[in-house]
Amino acid sequence: MPRPSPACGIPSRRHALYPGVSDAEWGDWRWQARHMVETVDELSRRLPLTPDELRGLESTRRKFRLGITPYYLALIDPEHPFCPIRRQAIPVEAEGVVGEGELEDPLGEEKTRPTPAIVHKYPDRVLLLATDRCSVYCRHCTRRRLTGADSGELNRTALREAVAYLRAHPAVRDVLVSGGDPLLLSDDRLEELLADLTSVPTVEMIRIGSRVPVTCPQRVTPALAKLLRAFAPLYVITHFNHPRELTPEAAAAVETLVDAGVPVENQSVLLRRVNSSARLLLDLNHRLLRLRVRPYYLHQCDVAEGLEQFRTPLSQGIAILEQMRGHTSGLAVPHFAVDLPGGGGKVTLQPDYVVERAERAWTFRSYKGERYAYPEPREQDCDCPWEATYFARALQKPGAGGESAHGAAMKVPARESVPLNVKV
Ligand code: SF4
Repeated sequence: MPRPSPACGIPSRRHALYPGVSDAEWGDWRWQARHMVETVDELSRRLPLTPDELRGLESTRRKFRLGITPYYLALIDPEHPFCPIRRQAIPVEAEGVVGEGELEDPLGEEKTRPTPAIVHKYPDRVLLLATDRCSVYCRHCTRRRLTGADSGELNRTALREAVAYLRAHPAVRDVLVSGGDPLLLSDDRLEELLADLTSVPTVEMIRIGSRVPVTCPQRVTPALAKLLRAFAPLYVITHFNHPRELTPEAAAAVETLVDAGVPVENQSVLLRRVNSSARLLLDLNHRLLRLRVRPYYLHQCDVAEGLEQFRTPLSQGIAILEQMRGHTSGLAVPHFAVDLPGGGGKVTLQPDYVVERAERAWTFRSYKGERYAYPEPREQDCDCPWEATYFARALQKPGAGGESAHGAAMKVPARESVPLNVKV
């Protein structure tokens, strides 16, 4: 029996909304980008808007861009105000309201931005802001102060400064290229950017955060996949929030990447009344896994201005994880992360399965609610006697596995920099 498709079976309204557009045009990402719906007039010609949406479009006009690819627009259910595509793409009145505790820069990125293109918050990794452009301006965007700012693409001066910063900070081994959406850069520009980043010998890996597989899957061409594969180890981190977004086109886009050898992981944002249901997220994650995409993070919605409408109580994310853990493979269970307001970085939350922590045994509850004891060992010394030998040899013989993909000796964290044997 053939396996059911991992793509969602709800049809697109492409032919009703864009009659006469050829397959070649529809399948061309530049056509999609050129025909983005950016005005209220055009949007209302293609979709009956609710009074709440009309007020939202007015109240957010000067605050954040409107932009929707024809592809993504054609996924909207015209009859349901809570269609998940609609809620992510079209503002409502609540978006114009700044809630208590909401911040323009919710993750405190400006104070950790040593050059225009770099945000450096964690010891071994940085965020590189490649562009302010996106194929859809998501109504839940955390970085709306940048994606709405008209700062354009990273220019060569900013890229040179970013590369100089990376050379001066050899502890940085991982660069997350984001923005905006870096996959909206042309292939040539992207190749130049990736070549410059990987010319820094201490950069071991690249991650690209992109929503184009979701909102403009036409962008993922075999040529793009081949280009990304050439810069391995390079991971693409997508942002599917709802199984409705897993269309045949989106499925083909991620499979093109994976088939080319580009690992793909997904991060979802938990959005109230959009995907704030374990059943929906399990369906999404199971479909993603069938496409060989690993669900990586479930993000608590950040405290960016206007987003209170989307924020769930923290307990809801934990409850969703509780409904996943044990009931499905661990591969389908993402980390539930809260990015601490003001720049504290991510922390993860999960249900607490520990019932009692005694010296000789800990007592747990299982996912079924049954109690189990785990006996503690008598020996408590967790030092690894061969550790120093391993690292000494790995450093001395870089060709025998201690060499990074770009030819540099792999950096080994100093022992004192790693928190060891943390007592709970
Ligand atoms: S694609 Fe990402 S950066 Fe762009 S608007 Fe959506 S969430 Fe923001």
